[in-house]
Amino acid sequence: MDGWQFGPAQELRQAFILDDNRLGPIHWYCPGKSAVVVMSIDDIFPGTSKSAYEAGGDLEKGALRHVLWLLDRHPQLQLTFFVTPDWRRIAPIADRLGRHVPWLRDRVYLTKILPKGTMDLRNHPEFVAFLNALPRTEIALHGLHHVNPGPSVSVEFEHQDRAGCAAMLAEALQIFDEAGLRYVRGLQPPGWTCTAALQQACRDIGIEWVTSARDVVSLVSKDARTAMSGLTGVSMLFPERIAAGLLHISSNFQATSVPERAFDILDAGGVLSIKAHITKNVPGHTHLDGVDDLYMNYLDRLFCDIEERYGDTVEWTTLGQLASSLSVSSAPSLVENAAPEAIAAYRAA
Ligand SMILES: [Zn+2]
Repeated sequence: MDGWQFGPAQELRQAFILDDNRLGPIHWYCPGKSAVVVMSIDDIFPGTSKSAYEAGGDLEKGALRHVLWLLDRHPQLQLTFFVTPDWRRIAPIADRLGRHVPWLRDRVYLTKILPKGTMDLRNHPEFVAFLNALPRTEIALHGLHHVNPGPSVSVEFEHQDRAGCAAMLAEALQIFDEAGLRYVRGLQPPGWTCTAALQQACRDIGIEWVTSARDVVSLVSKDARTAMSGLTGVSMLFPERIAAGLLHISSNFQATSVPERAFDILDAGGVLSIKAHITKNVPGHTHLDGVDDLYMNYLDRLFCDIEERYGDTVEWTTLGQLASSLSVSSAPSLVENAAPEAIAAYRAA
């Protein structure tokens, strides 16, 4: 454990948090904690085994039973579910004839899609009630419909300008609100891509954090920068303020990662950010990190090892709690305790 987590580190942490224009990674945790574990699960919506595929809609009888088992096994584990307000995608791969026709292929849906409203959370109150009652689980946003015209079937915000992104985010949050779903103000953009327009729209709408980058291959180091899916060049291990009022946390571990990667991340003082998808097999595609017996058993074993190796020095939290603990709008006591000289010292460093 490095000395920089304690003493002056807390002043640096506070100074960074309070200086909202200061961009870059945030290396400092709460006193006594040297690293963090978070886990998130994508593509959750009310699809049942009678739909094209099950995505949580069968509640405790479907894929969520694996997640409930893991939560039960590890009382310190907390989860973030990325939920899509009105899911419409059926297959993730473009398979329609139009995909070969220039101009047309960018303007039509190249895969079969569900009619609007089919998976709208407002029409699935039992599903919403189930999510609201889950222990140690927060809900955040995963797009609006999770489908896009053109060859990039899932990359929903890619061709939208700032106003278009903001309108979609506003509609998505309106569905959450009207469905009565409890949520935190975070976003995992479908298809990982987070354009500058989407980042601006997040700030317009009051989305406080995003998780766009996934890198489960680059070598682990404190200075590692993402170079795989979504945003590139952001910190692979640490929360990073990518714009005033907008925090980013990368995903850096999944089912195909070896346990040593998790230990390397924790040893480096990073955020071990584990990703899963709720459905293993969808039409035409298998998620390598899909929730199933095998993946949950692997994580069960890994979590036991982490508990044994690191004990209380690791903080188990959610993406939303981690982000809000690093936000200007977090604890009022943070503002009261602010040391102006610490901000000046940090700026000068
Ligand atoms: Zn997705």
